[in-house]
Amino acid sequence: MTTSTLAKTQWVYAFGGGSAEGDASMKDLLGGKGANLAEMSSLGLPVPPGFTITTAACNHYYANGKAYPTELEAQVQTALAAVEAATGKRFGDPANPLLVSVRSGARASMPGMMDTVLNLGLNDETVEGLARLAGDRRFAFDSYRRFIQMYSNVVLGLDHHMFEEILDDKKDALNVYVDTGLSADDWQAVVADYKAAVQAELGHPFPQDPAQQLWGAIGAVFASWMNDRAKFYRRMHDIPESWGTAVNVQSMVFGNMGDTSATGVAFTRNPSTGENKLYGEFLINAQGEDVVAGIRTPQPITKAAREEMGDKNPSMEEAMPEVFTQFKAVVERLERHYRDMQDIEFTVERGRLYMLQTRNGKRTAKAALKVAVEMAADGLITQDEAVRRVEPASLDQLLHPTIAPDAERDVVATGLPASPGAATGKIVFSAEEAERLGAAGEDVILVREETSPEDIRGMDAARGIVTARGGMTSHAAVVARGMGRPCVSGAGDLQIDEKAGEMRARGRTLKAGDIITIDGSKGDVLSGAVKMVEPELSGDFATLMAWADAARRLKVRANAETATDARTARQFGAEGIGLCRTEHMFFDDARIAAVREMILADDEAGRRAALAKILPMQKGDFVSLFEIMEGLPVTIRLLDPPLHEFLPHTEEDLTAVAEATGLDAAKLLRRAKELRETNPMLGHRGCRLGVSYPEIYEMQVRAIIEAALDVAASGRPAPTPEIMHPLVAKGEEMNYLKALTDRTVKQVCEERGATIEYSVGAMVELPRAALRAADLAKSAEFFSFGTNDLTQTTFGISRDDSGRFLNAYIDKGIFEKDPFVSLDTEGVGDLIRIATERGRAVRPDIKLGICGEHGGDPASIAFCEDVGLDYVSCSPYRVPIARLAAAQAALNRKG
Ligand code: ADP
Ligand code: MG
Ligand code: MG
Repeated sequence: MTTSTLAKTQWVYAFGGGSAEGDASMKDLLGGKGANLAEMSSLGLPVPPGFTITTAACNHYYANGKAYPTELEAQVQTALAAVEAATGKRFGDPANPLLVSVRSGARASMPGMMDTVLNLGLNDETVEGLARLAGDRRFAFDSYRRFIQMYSNVVLGLDHHMFEEILDDKKDALNVYVDTGLSADDWQAVVADYKAAVQAELGHPFPQDPAQQLWGAIGAVFASWMNDRAKFYRRMHDIPESWGTAVNVQSMVFGNMGDTSATGVAFTRNPSTGENKLYGEFLINAQGEDVVAGIRTPQPITKAAREEMGDKNPSMEEAMPEVFTQFKAVVERLERHYRDMQDIEFTVERGRLYMLQTRNGKRTAKAALKVAVEMAADGLITQDEAVRRVEPASLDQLLHPTIAPDAERDVVATGLPASPGAATGKIVFSAEEAERLGAAGEDVILVREETSPEDIRGMDAARGIVTARGGMTSHAAVVARGMGRPCVSGAGDLQIDEKAGEMRARGRTLKAGDIITIDGSKGDVLSGAVKMVEPELSGDFATLMAWADAARRLKVRANAETATDARTARQFGAEGIGLCRTEHMFFDDARIAAVREMILADDEAGRRAALAKILPMQKGDFVSLFEIMEGLPVTIRLLDPPLHEFLPHTEEDLTAVAEATGLDAAKLLRRAKELRETNPMLGHRGCRLGVSYPEIYEMQVRAIIEAALDVAASGRPAPTPEIMHPLVAKGEEMNYLKALTDRTVKQVCEERGATIEYSVGAMVELPRAALRAADLAKSAEFFSFGTNDLTQTTFGISRDDSGRFLNAYIDKGIFEKDPFVSLDTEGVGDLIRIATERGRAVRPDIKLGICGEHGGDPASIAFCEDVGLDYVSCSPYRVPIARLAAAQAALNRKG
């Protein structure tokens, strides 16, 4: 055996004292905290010396029945000796004890992991040594009792309430109210009580041996990698179990050594606004978690912030000006070094600054934009980097009016944050009422048990929607997101009594007409009108979007059928309409009667007569869309839903409709029964309607072309309609529909003596269509992947019913994500890939796009970039998200 095969694995990496064995690039092995502690050490910043046990050691531990690597103990010994040498103290030495913190640290910061244990190494003997060294017994015993409490809780699994009760009893007995009222002897007595409590709970004493304490804490960090909290967090954030966690063991510095000591946290810029100003909080004479624990109120770091807040207590800048100056220089250097806003933890021990952590700071969408744009403007990062720095989904926070952060919130009910943004209005309990009041210019919030397709117009007329039942993919949620209406779904504590015109929630009764505000970003229903802030689409937002547009290849269109949606889409930068669903146009009160008449007609002639009434109205819709879109492509999908959706659903409604329209009630009922289908999703719908009733599609094509010719004739940019046939499965079907379309266009053009550019294509939403894309492409000039239905038909799962079982699949890890939210890039993705290849083989310039919920999902957009689609189409409010996601996808492809 050669020595090289015996080369030992390095499980432990030292840092501190101006050098380190690791660096910031080694996050995978050292975890984020360990890698950055090493990097800061190498930069010569004041980092208390310590060492990192690698994530590989954690993985080894789990791969080997929870046994440590054999070399680990010796390597820890060596590293600990180096820390002793650097600090001039010894672990467990009663005269001059070294104390350490034990800190977990995975690659990504993970709230589910073990809490930090501070002051490890203290016992009945070393506490006396610490007291002598510090010249402060009170400090020493305060540190000891903190250690016992933390260690017992975090490592030994004892409830922290137990310790808090002991302390409270002590304070009561002594008649003091604050911790600072306790003397050294009082703390010593508390320590004795704590130890007795541990003995009583566990049947063995609190560990006095520092080595045993250390290995106990290391083991607890590894164990916490597999606790339920950590597992849950990993699943939510797609963090693989195989990453493992590192353990950081670091010599203690003390912020609780009197008034020249302090501990704090800081951001190099303001994490909520992005403003380029040091932002942070600190506490004098305190340790670690005191700042966030909320026991004492921390003070601002800078004088400016203190004055702004009207705080009386001195800022760090004022209380310790020299340390502050040093600190400011350090954090500025860190930001330049990491080229990103830093989130920093530090401690001052008797006037000396120590850096305990740095990482790229979490920030709001607003701050992310500002920081990225300003850093690029300062040349710290490139424009492309700035584009990559902003999380596309986070833009959602910026695109809707939102509740002012300082507004008072009187919450009456909570549900799911189904569609972001906030809205205020009067409560209405029916879609008709929403429509009526909405048309009269009133702001209303539609509150329903659940919504259904008939409520669409009421939902559109409302400022926001609340439902008592339903999840994140319920009808209300999906439609509201599509419309950009804020929505709270599944607000379970609401009891709605539509007849009485009231709802009860948490003991309160609200009546129709009462004002409420909903916060769709949080899922809250609030009483009264609440202060809001409008979205800011200029400034940093506009700058970053322009950079994104320069970086992306995919075009971005919007799904829109109303003038409002089309205008919003353009305002958000849509480059066309990718899906205009014509059926929504049929629900209008003025037309639904003609639509029903058409459905009830006994023969083609009857249908044509009814269709002739719809034609001018439909044409009017297209004129307005074409005008708004100014020559940009508009994909119009011909009628898709089964006809029974247009008929009233209950006998009561039927009678009412019959009376109102003069249609024969009995006939209406009979026809509704005839049209009822066992499985409407797979029934008489999509282009099957066009094949069985060609006159319907002919009318629609005519309306489109007449509208386009009118708009072109008016001197505006000539529209480019793309006429789309839904639910096509076969080449022959497509050929038939193409011929029908061309024939109708030709007829209209001849009548008018004019011509217009148009194209005819297929909505690919059936597996067969994808597989036989070559057949379709013979006559289809474009494909638009209708991934909502394509997902339903590929999995054989109905989206509306999936709520009942999909969660179980996600819990069990069978589905990683809801395939209706994020495209199943494997199965459904394969079909798209196949259709793309086979379609292009027949028609190289075939235009390819995707519409449906996935068109606005960043992960799905990355897939569309990889497959080489031409565009994605999504709801208007997601257009900026899609533009940014498309840019990032393009940049990632370039590498
Ligand atoms: P988290 O990941 O939860 O922030 P940390 O490991 O960063 O946990 O520890 C929390 C706090 O404990 C730190 O902000 C710091 O104030 C304190 N701390 C950790 N290690 C030390 C140390 N060696 N000396 C002094 N304080 C420490
Ligand atoms: Mg920390
Ligand atoms: Mg469909």
